[in-house]
Amino acid sequence: MRVTMLDLPRQLAALAPALRVAFERVLADGRFVGGPEVARFEQRVAARLSVPHALGVSSGSDALVVALSALGVGAGHEVITSAYSFVATAESILRVGARPVFVDLPPDGFNLDAAAAIAALTSRTRALLPVHLFGEPCALRALLDAAERAGAVVVEDCAQAFGATLGARAVGTLGAAGAFSFFPAKVLGGFGDGGLVTTADLPTATRVRALRQHGRTGPDRYEAVGGNYRLDALQAALLDVALEHVGGFIAARRQCAGEYLRALAELPGLVVPPLTEGHVFGCFTLRVLDGRRDALARHLSERGVETAVYYATPLPLQPLFAALGHRAGEFPNAERAAGEALSLPVHPALTASERGRVLDAVLEFFRSR
Ligand SMILES: *Cc1c(COP(=O)(O)O)cnc(C)c1O
Repeated sequence: MRVTMLDLPRQLAALAPALRVAFERVLADGRFVGGPEVARFEQRVAARLSVPHALGVSSGSDALVVALSALGVGAGHEVITSAYSFVATAESILRVGARPVFVDLPPDGFNLDAAAAIAALTSRTRALLPVHLFGEPCALRALLDAAERAGAVVVEDCAQAFGATLGARAVGTLGAAGAFSFFPAKVLGGFGDGGLVTTADLPTATRVRALRQHGRTGPDRYEAVGGNYRLDALQAALLDVALEHVGGFIAARRQCAGEYLRALAELPGLVVPPLTEGHVFGCFTLRVLDGRRDALARHLSERGVETAVYYATPLPLQPLFAALGHRAGEFPNAERAAGEALSLPVHPALTASERGRVLDAVLEFFRSR
């Protein structure tokens, strides 16, 4: 048996009876788009995050677009973001017609370099789009202060960080808006695609509501270019069940990460992620030094342990952003991360013996050379 990056049937087995009840309820009700299921999930998730407004949308990618758009980001604006993330982060900036301004990572972390982001602010900057990558809360205080002075807003990409906290606050509640993903592999995974926009600001929430329905502001009234970005009722009903279990999922992820950290922290040739308070370990991502990342991945695969590389190419070097004219060497820390990052299985259904197999295989690799 392989140790896999994900095992949703096993992770969700205990939820199956409640999921079936939710499915039957939606089937009997017949309102499959919008309706009470979506409203109820939105209320419960808003309470869980302690945020005034939570709006269900079709995906994390669309959550980013709708959030930026609701905050007035569009053509002629610059949006500062990390050179190291999933493509949807920076793609959302292009989708609203604005220009991504990439900043590098710090030498040692996976979240954008706040000082570099602040230095990149210009009179054209309308937003900063930091990412809580791998579930690690990104330090936002300095970014929020600098954004405010510059007349820009902060939109948090929380796609990998449901439930992550900075002090007493959930991520997604500190900036002008937060964007979450319910893609099945995420910390709060749904049963298909789904997403969420969070905001404390009522006018922003009202614009999100309009944008997710083609810019609809009233009966037969359309004011802005939005789209069909709604969350399905069935998705909302099932997510509502998963939401009750997300605290347990996060605790299991943190426990697994703690075990890995204790066993691997002292190995030369490896940099482990920090066990920061509030980190939810959407991914457990090592840096493998000395050009041995792919060799370690192969070694683990031969011993039945799956791994993943998030992300092998920094965003500025993707063809999608070629028009910005970036060249290799401009984002040295992101480029180094792209060559060193290796994610281990950290999902909540891992057994103690599976976690042991992961560790044994990693330790064996470093002992044998
Ligand atoms: C998954 C992800 C998204 C996009 O979410 P989808 O629900 O897959 O559209 C955006 N940003 C980051 C950092 C992600 O990991």
